[in-house]
Amino acid sequence: MSELRFDGRVAVITGAGHGLGRSHALSLAERGAKVVVNDLGGALDGTGASTGPAADVVELINKNGGEAVANTDNVATPEGAKAIVRTAIDAFGRLDVVVNNAGILRDKSFGKMSVEEFDQVLAVHVRGSFLVSHAAFPYLKEQGYGRIVNTSSPAGLFGNFGQANYSTAKMGLVGLTKTLGIEGARAGIKANAIAPIAWTRMTEALLPAEFEAKFTAERVSTLVTFLAHEACEASGEVFSVGAGRIARVFVAEGPGWRQDDHTVEDIRDNWQAIMAEQPYLTPTTLGQQATASMKAML
Ligand code: NAD
Repeated sequence: MSELRFDGRVAVITGAGHGLGRSHALSLAERGAKVVVNDLGGALDGTGASTGPAADVVELINKNGGEAVANTDNVATPEGAKAIVRTAIDAFGRLDVVVNNAGILRDKSFGKMSVEEFDQVLAVHVRGSFLVSHAAFPYLKEQGYGRIVNTSSPAGLFGNFGQANYSTAKMGLVGLTKTLGIEGARAGIKANAIAPIAWTRMTEALLPAEFEAKFTAERVSTLVTFLAHEACEASGEVFSVGAGRIARVFVAEGPGWRQDDHTVEDIRDNWQAIMAEQPYLTPTTLGQQATASMKAML
């Protein structure tokens, strides 16, 4: 089988100075993509800034015979996002792939979380992914081709103590991915999301030490690289990925319980049927979900 190459393609990877983004950038560059390595270079909580991490990854890519340029703009501002996309156009003349990976953590239990801690996490993950994709969209649409990979998290899909801000942001990215998948379809733009687990500075204090060798960033980047490739036909999907395992995560609706004129007590008494999971539906658009549930309702 032929190798999946990115010759002639240009990719922007946000937050590519460390961890997963760095690994995605190396993987895409190794397969011939010209890469914009974006990273603000701040701490895990988003404070501070440095040009070092992005520059180091660019140096490594160039040393390996690839082509890359650094960008240190903030994904969370419209000007920053536009500048990131502009870097790709100025340096390489086009843009094909956007990997929205930049992220920060401000973990706190719900009662102790400040409004600022909530807003700043949403700003980087949700606003940042929206802004960079939004700045790239006209270029992708114009050329009738594009690949967008967003970075969700199991914490968002399933919830996690101390991460109300992060979980909200990461589930928000599922909605963005699904709608981008629908809106991009006519222009050949596919958008998908990953929910990874990997040993990085974000997780090293949380994961058991023996995970380091197995949960490598490279074992997430293979999927990101595939989703960024022309060969990927999927869109609007979410994939759980880590340590060599990849699984589709889907939003499903159960068969439901129906009784036209029901009381509050009827709901209590039929709770098991309301909670039933089988047989479930996995609609991929609101239209599909509405058609199916209307059928059950009318
Ligand atoms: P990381 O801290 O190593 O990488 C995140 C990078 O984003 C950093 O280099 C940081 O400087 C950069 N960044 C932060 N804010 C930015 C901004 N405003 N503009 C530009 N760059 C910015 O962490 P990681 O584990 O590699 O995380 C990468 C992504 O994967 C994040 O979105 C994270 O939430 C997600 N994720 C990671 C895991 C995991 O197991 N490591 C699990 C689920 C989700």
